[in-house]
Amino acid sequence: MISTEQYICPRCLIPLKENKMAQGIFWSCGNCGGRAVTVELLRRTFTPESINPLWLHAIRGEGLSSVGCPLCRRQMLQVALADGANVNVDVCRSCHFVWFDAHEVESLAPKSATEISRDERERLAAEKMKRFHEQIDRYQINDTPAAAVWSTIADILRLHVWWW
Ligand SMILES: [Zn+2]
Ligand SMILES: [Zn+2]
Repeated sequence: MISTEQYICPRCLIPLKENKMAQGIFWSCGNCGGRAVTVELLRRTFTPESINPLWLHAIRGEGLSSVGCPLCRRQMLQVALADGANVNVDVCRSCHFVWFDAHEVESLAPKSATEISRDERERLAAEKMKRFHEQIDRYQINDTPAAAVWSTIADILRLHVWWW
């Protein structure tokens, strides 16, 4: 097992904090609010079918990112989440890490989410997950807008971290 100490915030260069959720672990930075999550966790949390197109998009390669991977420190790839959604994440192809800057999570999630209680947020996130899976059942996966997938991911990541 790799120790948590080895996960470093690519922006602040300080150790990342481990966050447990039902589906697995992700890492967050207490300073800048960025989060590192593995592609495997995203696949477990959602469905492999919903994440694979995004991952393929990532491994096709876009611009090189300005930051290094939290684990292997190699330069990551910058990937646009969706056409027209002016948001990029950084991806390490070797470690399968996806790095979200805090503003990237924020820009994806509904603003109102910060003003409601944690219970209410959990309820809304559960509902959103349910709708998300219904949507996948109903449509061909390639028709599911990437922005909808990422906005659900952002909700789940926000839910499990306290902001300060
Ligand atoms: Zn940081
Ligand atoms: Zn890496």
